[in-house]
Amino acid sequence: MSNETLFSKIVAKEIPADILYQDELVTAFRDITPKTPTHILIVPNKIIPTIDDVVAEDEAALGRMITVAAKLAKDEGISEDGYRLIINCKDHGRQEVYHVHMHLLGGRQLGTMVD
Ligand code: AMP
Repeated sequence: MSNETLFSKIVAKEIPADILYQDELVTAFRDITPKTPTHILIVPNKIIPTIDDVVAEDEAALGRMITVAAKLAKDEGISEDGYRLIINCKDHGRQEVYHVHMHLLGGRQLGTMVD
């Protein structure tokens, strides 16, 4: 595939990652540089560069990202205290990897949402 991304290579298991969940629509793995005790990335298996690129046919994968996040939060034991889900978009959103991904952050009290 010509437009591979770092995360599509993780989805395809071409590069290593600590994969916690995978199905036909999404893959979840631990962030390599965790900002919180639990820091998991949930990505669509399909390469979608940014949230600005989503189309109606992506709704199933985007919805699955939320339900998988809630499941993993329970698995991690952080659902009772709470957590944060973040999707960064493009330059102003400080998106670094251009393959849509949702951060699941928790395991401690988080700061304010925006600096
Ligand atoms: P963002 O700034 O929203 O694009 O987030 C990109 C995230 O990808 C950062 O939190 C990085 O730590 C994470 N990351 C980069 N490379 C890897 C990797 N090989 N495996 C897991 N997470 C990664």
